[in-house]
Amino acid sequence: MNKLHELLKEERIKQRYSYRSLADKAGINHSTIRCLEVDPSYRAKPDTLKKVAIALNIDSDKLMEMAGYTTHPTKRNSLNVEGDNDKWKPLNEAQRILKEINISNPPIDVYMVAKYLNIKVEDLVGPNHLSGVVGSKKEKAIYVNKAHPKVRQRFTIAHEIGHVVLHGFSESSKKGLLFRMGENHDPKEIEANRFAAELLMPKEMMDMECEKYGESLENHISDLAHKFNVSEAALSIRLATLYSRFF
Ligand SMILES: [Zn+2]
Repeated sequence: MNKLHELLKEERIKQRYSYRSLADKAGINHSTIRCLEVDPSYRAKPDTLKKVAIALNIDSDKLMEMAGYTTHPTKRNSLNVEGDNDKWKPLNEAQRILKEINISNPPIDVYMVAKYLNIKVEDLVGPNHLSGVVGSKKEKAIYVNKAHPKVRQRFTIAHEIGHVVLHGFSESSKKGLLFRMGENHDPKEIEANRFAAELLMPKEMMDMECEKYGESLENHISDLAHKFNVSEAALSIRLATLYSRFF
């Protein structure tokens, strides 16, 4: 539980609202109120926070700030202790790129992202366990196993873009950072996967969807996977990572 959750719960109880009566007053779903109070990773939309603030008669700017809305990602870095910057780098980089290309809705076009970064996406002809690789020719290129399902190729492309962005093209191609399923213990592989997850299923967009579906989220896993054009497996991992929700 963080400060925002504590404050909201405290105010709601003090003012004798139930989840439902507060939700009715604010004009939002009651499960959203619950999410706000009990799910530490839940990030409400600004207008939702404003509605709650008005209903509880508390300062909406304060709520927004507590929810992290006025804190820029780069600022978040400077607030962290030294050495912690790298932890946020994959997420910050993915968010920065989406913002620069002005992508604000799913599904994320990974080919457009690659093009924006001057990275060519080429076919990889290789064994099934090999998903992709950063190319070693002069040209910036990543190679993707075209025999794999489209959704998996998209994840592979995002992963390899992550290597180029986070670890540099020459370093990544020199080391021959391959992407094999199930071999994710290398810190660089973990970083590339975190980048890929944030790029394809950005937290902000996921929060909006979570809010939309509320408690019925579990009935919409395939809709959501379709919306983000990712596999249901990748989406389930993402939901578990972001919200500790398991399906
Ligand atoms: Zn990799």
